[in-house]
Amino acid sequence: MRAIVVRPPKPGVELIDCPAPSRAAGPVRVTVLECGVCGTDRDIVNGKYGKPPEGSPFLILGHENLGVVHAVDPSTAGFVPGDLVVATVRRGCGRCRFCSANRSDFCETGGFTECGINGAHGYMTEEYVESPEYLVKVPRPLRSVAVLLEPMSVVEKAIFQGQRVLDRKEPTPGHPRTEAPSALIAGTGAIGMLAALVLAMRGYRVAAIDRHGGDTPGVPLLARLGARHVNVATGFDALDGARFDLVIEATGSVSADFSLIDHLGPNGVIVLTGIPDEREPPATVPGGQLFRDIVLGNQAIVGSVNANRTYFESGLRDMTVAEERWPGALESMITSRLPLDAAPEVFGSPRRGGVKTVLRVRPTDAGPVP
Ligand SMILES: [Zn+2]
Ligand SMILES: [Zn+2]
Repeated sequence: MRAIVVRPPKPGVELIDCPAPSRAAGPVRVTVLECGVCGTDRDIVNGKYGKPPEGSPFLILGHENLGVVHAVDPSTAGFVPGDLVVATVRRGCGRCRFCSANRSDFCETGGFTECGINGAHGYMTEEYVESPEYLVKVPRPLRSVAVLLEPMSVVEKAIFQGQRVLDRKEPTPGHPRTEAPSALIAGTGAIGMLAALVLAMRGYRVAAIDRHGGDTPGVPLLARLGARHVNVATGFDALDGARFDLVIEATGSVSADFSLIDHLGPNGVIVLTGIPDEREPPATVPGGQLFRDIVLGNQAIVGSVNANRTYFESGLRDMTVAEERWPGALESMITSRLPLDAAPEVFGSPRRGGVKTVLRVRPTDAGPVP
């Protein structure tokens, strides 16, 4: 089968032909339909991190997946051929209490693997085999957008974490909230756009910032969600000093992170999801003022990574509601669909302005791989 592979820490990506996984390797056999491309994949291709499975000379790249079940071991219940599925990314360490409770996103040992990232093959290939516990069944009407479910799960977790912290000051019996809460999204890639969508759905007044003018693909969609777009290419002054209850960061830029903290409102929370480059030179910050404001403002800085199965499930519910409320909005985030063989070209050229590039592995979901 064809596969897009990397050999970290060597930069670069290759299209190879490799054997399909053995039928004994798992009870559910899945044909991959599509695989999304994201910043994590680019970091791996650039040699920043990534690790092949034990004993393999390469790592099959890709974690944002959608597939169709084409064979199920007779002893396995819950799946039938033709089911659409998205596989979760992280596989637990087998030792800590969080991994034992299917919450490997909170793993305490770091001994987990991540498909397409760290120690386990990913989905930029034609087939994989998996245990049912790592497969999330997707309703048919979401077929055209379900490749966004993995990034959506990351957004669901980040917002849930932020909301948990915000809720520590609620409720105020007898004095209900009269104004909608406000949210600032930093970055208008897929994570940022999905966060804008979910927060608009939850009744937040949303503003989204990036370093682009009004001609970027995300702008019309933000307008449709009722969200404000602000270009901060020349600085955060463009926000006119606005402060927000919830900030969702999806840029991985350290300097942006510090500027964002300045835009937290009283009792506000910033959730960081972007992963900065650890080789970034040290930054000088006015620490006294920064931490003083955080204490006096009851503010919180929260990191959020990965997502367990419950966030894939809440993501499916929110995607279904989004399809009813803003038909076509999710689909419009997929700004290009290219064949799997185009992957070397996609990774070989600088990131273009689109929201999400998806590699199409199989043109249809009918029938098993020949
Ligand atoms: Zn991703
Ligand atoms: Zn663990």
